[in-house]
Amino acid sequence: RRIAVLKERAAGETRVSASPETVRKLVALGASVAIEAGAGVRASIPDDDYRAAGAVIGDAAEVVAGADIVFGVQGPEPDLLAGVKPGAWIVAALDPFARRARIEAYAAAGLEALAMEFMPRITRAQTMDILSSQSNLAGYKAVLAAADVYGRAFPMMMTAAGTIAAARVFIMGVGVAGLQAIATARRLGAQVSATDVRAATKEQILSLGAKPIFVENVAGIEGEGTGGYATEMSEEYQKAQADLVSSHIARQDIVITTALIPGRAAPRLITDAQIATMKPGSVIFDLAAPQGGNVEGTVADQVVEKHGVTIIGFSNTPAHLPADASALYARNLFNFLAAFWDKDAGGPVLDAEIGDAIRLTRDGRIVHERLLA
Ligand code: NAD
Repeated sequence: RRIAVLKERAAGETRVSASPETVRKLVALGASVAIEAGAGVRASIPDDDYRAAGAVIGDAAEVVAGADIVFGVQGPEPDLLAGVKPGAWIVAALDPFARRARIEAYAAAGLEALAMEFMPRITRAQTMDILSSQSNLAGYKAVLAAADVYGRAFPMMMTAAGTIAAARVFIMGVGVAGLQAIATARRLGAQVSATDVRAATKEQILSLGAKPIFVENVAGIEGEGTGGYATEMSEEYQKAQADLVSSHIARQDIVITTALIPGRAAPRLITDAQIATMKPGSVIFDLAAPQGGNVEGTVADQVVEKHGVTIIGFSNTPAHLPADASALYARNLFNFLAAFWDKDAGGPVLDAEIGDAIRLTRDGRIVHERLLA
């Protein structure tokens, strides 16, 4: 099978969907890999490293010519794909709700578009889960970006000139990104607290040495796994949570928000009135900025100041760590192909559980139930 790796063309995208390590492993599986010249440059991977791993380097048209599978970080422009084999797979984060026209173009071209961000959160798919691998790095980077603009230090310091107090950091939403944000803020020496709607996160917060801050009088979400995902909360819960945030946030120096609800806009967790109660010089990093933001006033890719508080949101936080984000993303794609590689077929064959979850188009049509509804 021929695998094509294109240079990412979206503004601000620095990542690449294959690494020299995954090229080597794909070649060992029996695939041939063609990479567009310069595809890895922003992730610090020179073309020669791909060549040494067994890839062929070419321009976009050469790379896609005769390809069975096209890898991307984001979905490639349909007009780049003219030379691929009929029914070729597009494997990328396809963002189908925002990019409907592009998905329709894939369908019209007879391509099979596979949205890697729809990978089910099941144990056997963990190694293929791009949301987890990228969120983890995003949680780390959010803390560093907030620390960078914060005019004070994170750790307590006892110096000859006097003592500096530790920064108070509050993490809202304790999924993959939030857990890494807690761990990172702790490593920097901050005093960390955290909250979530899922009761199961309380133990995880404690185990990282942080303080859980939870709504006590209204039930949150119990259970883990498929039953344990966040949903939109009742009005009663939202009111109790708003009161809790109001009483806690005024004493925080740094707030990192990460709260998402699968398939929905991000929940609003911090209002402008609450920001006004924070000390001047405090910093908020809103990791939900690309999904509409958890914080009133967040503007993606801008640093805004409200009531003396700096609010930061990136539209693509993993792209701020291009080398590691690419390395992990590339492994997710390799693990996906390797898990389904069928020696007799000489290529990957999907099963129904994962195939139905991620396949958007096939045989000239959109086939995913969430896009047909
Ligand atoms: P996410 O990115 O969808 O959301 C981030 C966090 O925000 C979640 O913990 C969520 O509960 C929380 N949240 C939502 N609304 C909130 C609100 N109003 N207030 C406060 N917090 C709110 O979550 P995620 O990082 O994808 O992880 C969710 C769960 O999935 C975790 O239990 C994680 O361990 C699990 N998971 C499983 C797999 C797998 O088995 N393959 C992979 C990744 C994650």
